[in-house]
Order: sequence, then structure tokens, then C-alpha cells
Amino acid sequence: MVNAMDESASLPAFPRPKVLVVDDQALNIRLLHELLRADCDVYMATSGSQALELARSLMLDLILLDVVMPDVDGHEVCRRLKADPLTQAIPVIFITAQQEMADEVKGFELGAVDFITKPINPVTVKARVRTHIALKQQADMLKRIALVDGLTGIANRRRFDEAFTIFWRQSQRDQTPLSLILFDVDFFKRYNDRYGHQAGDQCLIAIANAAKSALHRPNDVIARYGGEEFACILPNTDSNGGASVASKILENICAQAIEHRDAPPRCIVTVSLGVATLRIFPEATPESLIKVADEQLYKAKVAGRSRFEAIAL
Ligand SMILES: [Mg+2]
Repeated sequence: MVNAMDESASLPAFPRPKVLVVDDQALNIRLLHELLRADCDVYMATSGSQALELARSLMLDLILLDVVMPDVDGHEVCRRLKADPLTQAIPVIFITAQQEMADEVKGFELGAVDFITKPINPVTVKARVRTHIALKQQADMLKRIALVDGLTGIANRRRFDEAFTIFWRQSQRDQTPLSLILFDVDFFKRYNDRYGHQAGDQCLIAIANAAKSALHRPNDVIARYGGEEFACILPNTDSNGGASVASKILENICAQAIEHRDAPPRCIVTVSLGVATLRIFPEATPESLIKVADEQLYKAKVAGRSRFEAIAL
């Protein structure tokens, strides 16, 4: 999830929308495909189960869903889409020949955003599809802006807080270790004083990228924690794993060899890191793990910077 967000963090123009048309009648699908293909990438499913499968694998912007189908009917498809975190944000428009109020009420209760009745009116279909795609894309963009750090494109503090709470609970529930790395840039104030704030920003971007490339698992989170402070959440990672990621981050950042004349003796940009790993420790709280990682970071500073210190609870 985080990777997908990061890739689009620079907020490009909206990509071509993806629409899934679900109908057991090939003729209806063809008709809708003809209507929409100029503006959208149109995917097709002729059964409810096929629709559910596609909805999980494609990042869809809209589903046009027939109600009456032989295997899984449209209402059931909609119910399952809305129950699945992976698909629940996809807007669903029912396309139905049944013009009874009761069906419309049921559809809205199931989470549909709109209705189109058969026989379809091309102008109506196009207008409604356009409206709901625009709403979906705007919602996606706002979600992204709300969770991404504007400068570096990695997760922001809000996203960190959310993710940390989720992974903390998961670790307690499954009794799996959780590692947290906090790190910051050594002598960053001196860097800004000498090279200016624009160079400082470029430095933070380079550091975020170098650190990001040290993480390889999809659930690992790297976030900008504060000004020149960063944090990594490593779910299901023991103290050895945490230390090896910290060491890789340090190595990647040193390998960039960003000049920093006021950071003797090497005169390049380095970071200091603190790693805290939680095994099974009933009294621990999310805050205490952050505090312990911060203490390790401080130890790394005192010990001479450009290094990490680690502890397991
Ligand atoms: Mg049908």
C-alpha cells in the first residue's frame, strides 16, 4: 500500500480511469464498452465471481454492475465488495431492468452510489460514469495528500501514527516481534547553515530515497517523522532483522557521499539510528517503544554519530 502511494506521490495528472462492466449478457457489455471506451479502460466480467476476482486484482475506479445474474447476483457482489478492505472504496453503479423502488433501496443500503436503468440511455450513462469517476479520483488524491510527506514522497507523520498503531496491535495479537528504527541526519543544522535550505531539502529527499531502498518487504513503512527525523516500522522483524535494516540504511546513505564540509572527519552526510525491537513485553506501549528507540538514537549520537544502537525489549 505504501509503495503504491509513494509511486504516485508527485501527483501526476489523473491516469486513465479503469471501469469494470459486469453483466451476464454479452450484448449489454458490448454496448457499455462502446459507450465508455473513448474515456476509460473498460474491463469486462460475465459473472459475479469473475467480477469479484477482477475487482481484487485491478485498481478500479468504478464498477457498473448488473443485478440479475445466474451465479452470484449483483446485490451479493456488491455486499462482498463492500466487506473487503481491498475493494470497498470502489464505487458501484447498479444497472438494472427492475425499476422497482425496493431494489433501488436495497442497492443503496448495500453501498451503491447510483443506479442506471435498462434500456440504457447513452447520455445518462456517460454523465453518471464521468461524475463518479471524478469523485473517486478526487477522493484518492486527497487520501494520498493526507498521508504522504510533500517533500520526500514517503509516508508522513500521520501515516506513521496510523500504521504504527495497526502493526503494534498485530504484533501483540500474533505474538510476533516488531522493530522500530528512528534516525536523523547528523549535523543537519550546520548543513543548512552552510549550503542553504534548498540544498537541505534536496539532502532530505536523497536520504529518504536511500533509506527507502533498504526496505524490501511490502509492509515495511518508512516515514518522515519530523524535520530531519525519519522512522521505519518493520513488522514481524526481530532484533537481528532490525539491526540489519539499520545498517543497510546507513550504508546506502553513506554511499551517496553527499558533501558536508562541517561534518568531520568524513565530511559527508551521515545519519544516526536507534533501533528498538519488541518481543513479548506485556507492559510495553506504542509510546514506550518510540521512547526506547529515541534513547538508542541518542546513544548513537553520543557514541560519535554515523552508527546505530539497538535494543530488544
Ligand atoms: Mg443480467
